[in-house]
Amino acid sequence: MNPFEEQGLLDKYSFIIVGSGLAGLSLCLELLASKMDLTGRILLVDKSFSNYPDRTWCFWDSGNFTYKDLITKEWRNVRLCLSDKLLDIDLGRYRYKMMDSQDFRHYAFSEIEASGRVDMVEAIVTDISQLEGGGAVVMAGQLKYIGQKVFDSRFNKEELNNHSGNKLWQQFRGWYIETEAAVFDQNKATLMDFRTNQEDAVAFYYVLPVSPKKALIEFTLFTLELKPREFYENALNRFLNEKVGGKFTIISEEDGIIPMTDLVFSQKYRDILPIGTAGGWTKPSTGYTFSFVRREVENIVNDLEQNIHPLEKPKYFSSRFWYYDRILLRLISEYPKKGAHIFFSLFQDNPVSRVFKFLDNRTSLWEEFLIFVKLPVILFVKMAVKEVFKKRK
Ligand SMILES: Cc1cc2nc3c(=O)[nH]c(=O)nc-3n(C[C@H](O)[C@H](O)[C@H](O)COP(=O)(O)OP(=O)(O)OC[C@H]3O[C@@H](n4cnc5c(N)ncnc54)[C@H](O)[C@@H]3O)c2cc1C
Repeated sequence: MNPFEEQGLLDKYSFIIVGSGLAGLSLCLELLASKMDLTGRILLVDKSFSNYPDRTWCFWDSGNFTYKDLITKEWRNVRLCLSDKLLDIDLGRYRYKMMDSQDFRHYAFSEIEASGRVDMVEAIVTDISQLEGGGAVVMAGQLKYIGQKVFDSRFNKEELNNHSGNKLWQQFRGWYIETEAAVFDQNKATLMDFRTNQEDAVAFYYVLPVSPKKALIEFTLFTLELKPREFYENALNRFLNEKVGGKFTIISEEDGIIPMTDLVFSQKYRDILPIGTAGGWTKPSTGYTFSFVRREVENIVNDLEQNIHPLEKPKYFSSRFWYYDRILLRLISEYPKKGAHIFFSLFQDNPVSRVFKFLDNRTSLWEEFLIFVKLPVILFVKMAVKEVFKKRK
């Protein structure tokens, strides 16, 4: 008798995906597109399929992005600003791309519905437990489902709060605005404008113009202390008055927090795989997640197609990039004032392709050497020593 029958459970799935956010939906689409001989069904569980807060996801890309029709806008040129210095960069073969979460969700749900292979259940998942003979049980209130593999994108804030290592929250609020005058250069996105107080936290604005009169402007802070809404609104008003000028109307708003941490989001059970931010797919030193989600869901499905358990692959947490992230995260936590200079000089002193490769965890040792020699070496060595010491404790 198979373990599912032994448990006397009725609703059995090949895969259960908990959370229909970026990671859950991306994985579901990837599974549906796979050539895997998928006889069983997929279950998608979310506490709400309709209340997902709208998000604008940006990322750089040099190739053929899978969902290219969903890109709202892309830029070949970007700008960074630090005190009186402006750095304009031609991205060459790269583009900085923007996608609206609503467009992605609309597309994903229509694909899911058309497939006829996915059940969707709206319920709060309270527990997931590994079965001894293989598979896992998902508890959603009174409902109980069993899956051969369960992918879990619930992010455990409590675990992060209790983490004694490096952690910051990347907090931001953004206004999508329309101005009366044509003030934006729609061919250039501002990645980071550091012309604001850097005393206690790395802080910057980014400006994503979609037309000469419309742009998404966000104020971002890397800090442990969560700031109230007015703090961000004051900062946005200040920027708009000082750097943009003229009258504007707010069309929509978005806000959010992203964990930046060296907490190891490890897989504790064989058939329960944490995914998305909950799986450690958010880069600790930048908060960028989108491209890592794409890469990781492809990896998972490739592994499943070849009958390799995703656990058997080497993990980011044992790679050197994990170590670099920890050093940089420690540095910006201990010396926030240095952060702006480090990010600015990273782009100023290196070809942009090398920087993007580095931030994507794809550089060679030689490329990393070329990057590191241009950074404040003594400070980085000091942080590295602290990290090594911490590891040995
Ligand atoms: C406003 C905002 C903008 C961002 N912009 C960028 C960007 O430009 N570029 C980038 O790379 N990254 C960005 N990020 C970071 C990252 O890409 C997103 O946070 C991304 O949504 C993470 O995907 P996820 O699937 O892990 O989590 P989410 O997309 O948050 O999905 C989690 C899902 O799980 C569900 N869920 C949670 N708990 C339960 C439960 N107990 N039971 C059932 N369902 C549950 C939630 O309802 C949700 O649907 C941004 C983040 C935010 C908040």
